[in-house]
Amino acid sequence: MSTFRSINPYNQETIAEYAPHTEADIEQRLAWGHQAYRHLSHTSLQERCNWMLTLAGLLKTNVEKHAALITREMGKTLREAKAEVLKCATSAEYYVGHIAEMLQPKLIHSDAQQSYISYDPKGIILAIMPWNFPYWQVFRFAIPNLLAGNTALLKHASNVSGCALAMEDLFLQAGFPEGAFQALLINSKNIEPVIADPRVQGVTLTGSTAAGMSVGALAGKYIKKSVLELGGSDPFIVLKDANLDEAAKTAVKARMQNAGQSCIAAKRWIVEEAVLGDFTDKVSNILGNMRQGDPFSEETDMGPMARPDLAAELAQQLKQTVSQGASLALGGQHQEANFVPTLLTGVQPGMTAFEEETFGPLAVIIKAANEDHAIQLANQTPFGLGSSLWTTDLDKARRLARQIDSGNVFINAMVRSDARLPFGGVKQSGYGRELALEGTHEFLNVKTVYIA
Ligand code: NAP
Repeated sequence: MSTFRSINPYNQETIAEYAPHTEADIEQRLAWGHQAYRHLSHTSLQERCNWMLTLAGLLKTNVEKHAALITREMGKTLREAKAEVLKCATSAEYYVGHIAEMLQPKLIHSDAQQSYISYDPKGIILAIMPWNFPYWQVFRFAIPNLLAGNTALLKHASNVSGCALAMEDLFLQAGFPEGAFQALLINSKNIEPVIADPRVQGVTLTGSTAAGMSVGALAGKYIKKSVLELGGSDPFIVLKDANLDEAAKTAVKARMQNAGQSCIAAKRWIVEEAVLGDFTDKVSNILGNMRQGDPFSEETDMGPMARPDLAAELAQQLKQTVSQGASLALGGQHQEANFVPTLLTGVQPGMTAFEEETFGPLAVIIKAANEDHAIQLANQTPFGLGSSLWTTDLDKARRLARQIDSGNVFINAMVRSDARLPFGGVKQSGYGRELALEGTHEFLNVKTVYIA
């Protein structure tokens, strides 16, 4: 079986190689995960909260070490990686403060002497995660689940095995019992027996729509609860009464952060015709000053993409879109995984960059004749993850927000996931929610108790 190799995307140097787990290793980890679930059900919420607080402390103390690992394995800037690690720590602290309220049994009046819902853990939850936010994607699932008493098996993307093992180590160091959080170094081809295993009670996947289709089908086959957080092609809608300076600044950040590799990146800038020229000038200025390069350097705004094949795929989408009639206004070049910030104007429905998810530093401007047309363009996609709407008229914003088919609408702000707010999509962006009350309850047994 071939090894998992971590390669620094900035210079293509091999960082480490990891042997995949054997069938016997996988069985051992399932057994430990189940044992840890039994163990956790005899611990108090307070005890689990104490471990989680220790974990938050460890993340804060060792932020440099974890951030450097992220940057080496997948290429985001060290500044972005530190912010990601700290977000995991503050989110852990937030849940420690709120989990008791989220797990509080809910009384319901019926003909019983007493009837209520209790929120009980179910067992091992398999998490299949992507490399783009290699810590945050994992923590946003793991924090509420481990606090609630489930255990986690992580099948991470194969280019970030070092991050997966570092997180396993962190949970142990924080005091969680052995088996409570484990990494599984396996190829996605071998996932079926893990999903089928009766000790695994659910599966959450964050990744592409193709992976979601495959894992969702397996979850259905074995009757396992699933949550799918998939791709997106989020609209960033700029209406003519928007604060254009703020909108332009935020559009660039929302598209280019993490070298454009975010599910909720602003992948389609839809701009009302009346402000199209001004908006294009403003974003061109900002994009033209962005520095792409060594992710460890303080001077760098944007690191490489995570892998050269991803850059090649983006270059192909760019080429196709230009051949379909869009204009290349800025950038366009790449060398291996290093792709410069790029801007396309004159993008329309039917063109590749409008129809497909583009997962890299490619910004596109789409002209809308008026606000109704802007909403129509926003919804003209198979995806429905996030959306950002810019206008100074908040009544209009609230009205239009209801017309946008997406799991969230951010008004005069970029879309982001926040420990306090539910996160997830509609249409081909998936189903189910992570975070907040809704996400915390996804993998719990919503148990009805009736006392006659
Ligand atoms: P990906 O190729 O789908 O991989 C994601 C994870 O799924 C990896 O661990 C991968 O393992 C695994 N995987 C892939 N195919 C699988 C299959 N058939 N069965 C089981 N597991 C499978 O996605 P990616 O390139 O890492 O990430 C980019 C995509 O994720 C984009 O579409 C992005 O929009 C989406 N995303 C969504 C969210 C969200 O919250 N909605 C957040 C971040 C990213 P291997 O690495 O071993 O292939």
